[in-house]
Amino acid sequence: MQKKLFVAFGCLALFFSLAVAQQSDSIAERAKKLHFSSLVMDTHIDVTPNLQREGWKFDERHTTGHVDLPRMKEGGLNGLFFSIYMSGAVTGPKAVNDALQRIAAVHKLAEDMPDKVMLCTTAADILQAQKQGKIAALMGMEGGHMINNSLPVLRMYAALGVRYLTLTHSLNTDWADSSGDQPKHNGLTDFGKEVVRELNKLGVMVDVSHVADKTFWDALEISKAPIIASHSSCRVLSGHPRNMTDEMIKALAAKGGVIQINYLDSYIDNDLYLWGQKTQAARRELAQKYPGRENFMKIREELEKQFGTAPKASWERIVDHIDHAVKLVGADHVGLGSDFDGATMPVGMEDCSHLPKITEALLRKGYKEADIRKILGGNTVRLLGEVEKAAKQLRGAK
Ligand SMILES: [Zn+2]
Repeated sequence: MQKKLFVAFGCLALFFSLAVAQQSDSIAERAKKLHFSSLVMDTHIDVTPNLQREGWKFDERHTTGHVDLPRMKEGGLNGLFFSIYMSGAVTGPKAVNDALQRIAAVHKLAEDMPDKVMLCTTAADILQAQKQGKIAALMGMEGGHMINNSLPVLRMYAALGVRYLTLTHSLNTDWADSSGDQPKHNGLTDFGKEVVRELNKLGVMVDVSHVADKTFWDALEISKAPIIASHSSCRVLSGHPRNMTDEMIKALAAKGGVIQINYLDSYIDNDLYLWGQKTQAARRELAQKYPGRENFMKIREELEKQFGTAPKASWERIVDHIDHAVKLVGADHVGLGSDFDGATMPVGMEDCSHLPKITEALLRKGYKEADIRKILGGNTVRLLGEVEKAAKQLRGAK
């Protein structure tokens, strides 16, 4: 009798474990289908300097960096904003000259690969590129210093296809305070407010990633169109001042904007952020000794020798930040802005080929497929479309 019972329980346990495995397999299958049939957009990728490197090819798979065409295909990433990045320390005519070279590199990529990459400047273009199975290539300019205090220069960038301007990078500009610098202007100066109005008229998105909190509030108040945080995470989960407070995220969303979650490991993991605080002074010294983004990992290795191993951030923190923002403001106001190729990535998100994990994790959390599609790319297209519409109205109204 006892033996029979034992066998019966054994069969029952096997049945349940098979059922659970089957259910989990079906979620994995659903996630794959959903991810690869969705428009997946990333609003901040720093691969642009690679395009300018002699011999570096976008359509070859690389063992370093985070983004290239083969890995975008593996990760189901259909579109991106190429960051026109420049250190805030580069100013004046040199900043304009260098920015034009970065922009030219993106133009050249689209010209060299017309069957694979489409230069897009409108929401409709993005949808067209997706339809044709091409990468939607847009440009976002990371730092207001590149306009060299000139609205005509800004208009020229817009004419060349730039579709967002991050008001500051890590240093203040002459007209806006950055979160990475000492407050100087109490947010935006009068000229800074002019820049926001001009962006609105041009149909270029106002980007508040990197800016000081007061600059954010000023920009939000002035802007006649919804605004974007192209690569920012949630400060309540990781205390970095580059991240947004709940109050800021709510205000951004209330005006139709979108927060695009940044994957940078210390922006998403508070233990790592605190470790970064502890090692800050030594990091500054090392950054002078080893300048440039390519030395990020080298600097971290040196710091670990002095301060012990840094806490490891998991890719699952990205999902925590998405989930927090969605719980706060709903799925219409959250998207993806990885900072790939410009930052150290968390464990498990070593490059863009790992992106389908995010879709699967959201599905496992019970997110509706329609909401996941919005987060993956729908919200970015909607936002750009609304900014275009607002620009038309503003231009027509004058
Ligand atoms: Zn950045």
